[in-house]
Amino acid sequence: MKPLLKIARVWLQRAVFSPIYFFVFASSLFGFLLAAPVQALQITVTVPPLAGMIAPLLDQEDHIEVLLKPGVSPHGFQLKPSQLAVLQKTDLLLSVGTPVDAWVTKFAARIQAKQLRLADLTAVEKLPMRIGGIWEKSLGDKHAGHDHEHDDHSNPLSFDGHLWMSMSNARQLIMQTAQVLRVLKPHKAQQIALAQEQWLAQLQAQDEQNRARLQAVQDKAFLVLHDAFQYFEHQYGLNGVGSVRLNPDVPPSLKRIAELRERMIAGKVACIFQEPQFPSKPLQRLAAGTSAKLGILDPMGTLYIKQSAEPQEAYMLYDQFSEQLTAAFVACLGAAHE
Ligand SMILES: [Zn+2]
Repeated sequence: MKPLLKIARVWLQRAVFSPIYFFVFASSLFGFLLAAPVQALQITVTVPPLAGMIAPLLDQEDHIEVLLKPGVSPHGFQLKPSQLAVLQKTDLLLSVGTPVDAWVTKFAARIQAKQLRLADLTAVEKLPMRIGGIWEKSLGDKHAGHDHEHDDHSNPLSFDGHLWMSMSNARQLIMQTAQVLRVLKPHKAQQIALAQEQWLAQLQAQDEQNRARLQAVQDKAFLVLHDAFQYFEHQYGLNGVGSVRLNPDVPPSLKRIAELRERMIAGKVACIFQEPQFPSKPLQRLAAGTSAKLGILDPMGTLYIKQSAEPQEAYMLYDQFSEQLTAAFVACLGAAHE
């Protein structure tokens, strides 16, 4: 390093006095800057599972910012000024594009970044919102539809907005994101294509493993806290029969609890799944005196993060995300004897 510095200093001294030396010095500095690694990408995602889908496509130097922090509910969420600053300098913004992350929409319209919305991708699987059976929701009632707090009443959703719960939708976002990344980093196109291929193969293996494990509990009826898991249930043929909360922000009334208990006793519900962000008392009250067991499901992947040795990680990779959901279903439904 020392001799190099000495040469540079000599050249710099000469450059001050000689136009030729100055030209050679300046052009070699310019050449060095050109050869320097290309800018790192700043990717912003609204909710943690989206980061878990696309992280394996990125380089070490690229950065993912997750707007919704672990343990925070997307319901009624507001962006902080510091997050608006992050949005201003982001290269790519990924969102679900449903009421779940509607809080980013008005800012998304004002920024330069490339954007991908899961809901807009052509091959994305969309399931209708559930309204039959215990999934009784009167669409005319504001508090009955699963429209969250962050809903947009002028544009009611005809489909279930939890699109990230579908592995097939995850694949679509991965493929579309890889395509955008190849445009943003053309010199890394081959590397990105290879990463995509490996990641999709890994997800395929995880998908098959989930399917095999869940087969044993397919018949077991269960209730969830709110209707967030339909895509997962559909994918693996699970038997979800209803949700405790009709609107995720409104605790169930005593009347609703009594009504559900009646149905539970008649319908042999094996498990009730709570969610980490919500109080568990009402569900315990619901399960008391019935044969139903209590389990826990996390639609954002927070449980894993809490147990992780690296608390700074704001998301888990999508294969782990679907694995922990599988494990939670198997743990509760598998232990139930009805
Ligand atoms: Zn939800």
